[in-house]
Amino acid sequence: MSVSMDVLVSLCKRRGFIFQSSEIYGGTGSCWDYGPLGVELKNNLRRVWWRDFVQVRNDVVGLDASILMHPMVWKASGHTEKFTDPMVDCRECKLRFRADQVNEQPWTHYCPATKGNKFTVPAGEGCRHCGATRTLCPECGKGELTAPRQFNLMFKTFMGPVEEEATLTYLRPETAQGIFVNFDNVLQAMRLKLPFGIAQIGKAFRNEITPGNFIFRVRELEQMEIEYFVNPHDTVEGRPADEYWHERWIEEYLAWFQRYGMQRENLRLREHDKDELSHYSKRTVDIDYRFPMGWSELMGIANRTDYDLKQHAKFSGKALTYFDEERKEHVVPYVIEPSVGVERPLLAFLVDAYREEEVRGEKRVVLRFHRELAPIKIAVLPLLKKRGEIVAIAHDIRARLARSWRAVYDDTAAIGRLYRRQDEVGTPYCVTVDVKTVGDPDKGEAGDGQVTIRERDSMEQIRVPAAELESVFAGLLGETPWPEVAARYPRTV
Ligand code: ATP
Repeated sequence: MSVSMDVLVSLCKRRGFIFQSSEIYGGTGSCWDYGPLGVELKNNLRRVWWRDFVQVRNDVVGLDASILMHPMVWKASGHTEKFTDPMVDCRECKLRFRADQVNEQPWTHYCPATKGNKFTVPAGEGCRHCGATRTLCPECGKGELTAPRQFNLMFKTFMGPVEEEATLTYLRPETAQGIFVNFDNVLQAMRLKLPFGIAQIGKAFRNEITPGNFIFRVRELEQMEIEYFVNPHDTVEGRPADEYWHERWIEEYLAWFQRYGMQRENLRLREHDKDELSHYSKRTVDIDYRFPMGWSELMGIANRTDYDLKQHAKFSGKALTYFDEERKEHVVPYVIEPSVGVERPLLAFLVDAYREEEVRGEKRVVLRFHRELAPIKIAVLPLLKKRGEIVAIAHDIRARLARSWRAVYDDTAAIGRLYRRQDEVGTPYCVTVDVKTVGDPDKGEAGDGQVTIRERDSMEQIRVPAAELESVFAGLLGETPWPEVAARYPRTV
């Protein structure tokens, strides 16, 4: 049974991952702030993405384009005209819904068969008493809905001191266009050969009509996009290069999500029907995730063909082509676009990490984050905070480890409680300093200079010389699995 959204929202708030934006003023719709642990998690997600898709690859380079762009960009890309959702308004309560999503929520019904009693009927179902299906506003149950009208999702703003049509521009609704308009700059500067990708992480803004489901649909989002350019005249393994690379990117991402903790059964591929395809797309495949509210889009992988480069060439008058040395011809590359937000994978990794377990008759909540995603890598805990030497050594260890990893010190509760707190935020390792570490001068006992390392998932503990902690964690937070390290040191309970 997967975790409910309410449980996640509450854990995220309580433990400093995610807060509602401007909460003290009643909150802003669909904007969220990332707290001390949320910002670490988000940074880690961005960092592993950049490392895996840019740094280690020989065929992808990075870019950081500005959010505000020339307004012509959005004319050329089709966003001014086509980046719209059909919306309907309730004539009674004035609420606004996406026409294609209005049946995806439970609806309020005043049932004539039960003297007008009010019911909430599950999404997409008819009333059990009178058999009626929804025709009125799902929220108030009384108002008629207007016919669908197209609503542009771009946020408008003005560049400079005068608010007039000539200075109108938009907050970018996707990072992709920053890549297309820089295609020639990057190509010339880096002397790239097809196929190659340009990657970018950055904010994008969409004035979504019905935002919601926590961070799943937000108005200010962050995207991690790659535009992967291929030569449309090439074939790879007997297939057109664009089709081959489309498949490759789908596989790459399926593997990547699983590598950091999503389970295969929570992922599925969904092919867009011909009539659902965006105006630029030859083929689009979504990777859906089984979120608490049901299967929904985690990311999209589209074959955008040569549409964008051709449009920008047409609108700007600048050639955006690649010279194919072999065939001695200029070509407009095709582009495969794996496009993913930061928020949706972050939510999916949270869902897959969340576990409730029973340990010695007590409930333990644990986030089994992949070590690279975990916001805190190591918590250093003193067993007795009354003993000055224990506290001093614990602080010293934290400071040493913090040079390489996010490490925290905590002495605000008894040890069992401290472990549970770290489990609940997904900290993979705790280090405990105790009386045996420092010894007891009153009894004439010398300290052994060793500390306990506890592993989050197995809750196993080993005894390790404090001086070896850096090298032990270099292994554990690198590629060495726990059992291999644990086998080298004595176990403790
Ligand atoms: P949806 O159909 O859910 O509105 P979309 O098809 O419009 O999404 P794309 O334009 O393909 O989304 O954007 C690529 C990716 O960017 C999405 O798969 C998602 O990961 C992310 N994304 C898009 N819109 C939002 C949003 N409002 N909030 C959070 N993430 C988003």
